[in-house]
Amino acid sequence: MDMRKPLIVANWKLNNTIPEALKFAAVFTADLKAAGNVDVVIAAPFTSLYSLSVALAETDFQLAAQNIFWEDSGAFTGEVSGPLLKDVGCTYVIIGHSERRQLFGETNETVHLRIQAALKHELIPIVCVGETLEEREANRTWEVVESQLREGLGSIDPGATDGFAIAYEPVWAIGTGRTATPEQAEEVHGLIRKHLNAAYGGDAREKTRILYGGSVKPSNSRELLTKPNIDGALVGGASLNTAHFAAIVRSAH
Ligand code: PEP
Repeated sequence: MDMRKPLIVANWKLNNTIPEALKFAAVFTADLKAAGNVDVVIAAPFTSLYSLSVALAETDFQLAAQNIFWEDSGAFTGEVSGPLLKDVGCTYVIIGHSERRQLFGETNETVHLRIQAALKHELIPIVCVGETLEEREANRTWEVVESQLREGLGSIDPGATDGFAIAYEPVWAIGTGRTATPEQAEEVHGLIRKHLNAAYGGDAREKTRILYGGSVKPSNSRELLTKPNIDGALVGGASLNTAHFAAIVRSAH
């Protein structure tokens, strides 16, 4: 029996005002009605999370933040913590997205602290890993992904948290229109699954959802999602269009 419910996440990045977010929610929920047998999550900017949580309260669509700070409160100007994310209605949080690693100094160490903070506040982590084009061409893909997992997760067993997700996002495929082939993605997903088994044992291997991210769109999502170790998708660009995002969710059913 497949223990892993598919998970489709819209990563809006730095897009959508409150009116735009609410319009998206209205059109999207009218189109899709219910998430069905798929977990559907919108990772919106901090500023629209609360309005979205009110708009989506009667639905089974869920919300994620795009980052979390590891302290709960205090003199940390500009940061947002677990209790504040719970307060605005989040159930998930994206951690270690490659844009944060490349542009904002995120490291495997800070990823680890953020995962701990998420779990402390019962937020489900979506932990991003992935290699650059240079690393892939130097045949270092698995070395890079393995160290991101080993150092990012450390002693945290993803099998102990329902819904825990790891997103494999090759950096060369993000926002470039260049998708990994289903075979390329499945190869790394299989290695991630094997690593989880070796490092944490059966529950982590069976339960952890491994998402693919990198130019997922309606025309390629079904083929990616039918691979045995691809349990969902983290969708950037295509998630800003309600019809495209709804089509991707449908392809996961
Ligand atoms: C992402 O933001 O995680 C992503 C995969 O973006 P895109 O779908 O635009 O490549």
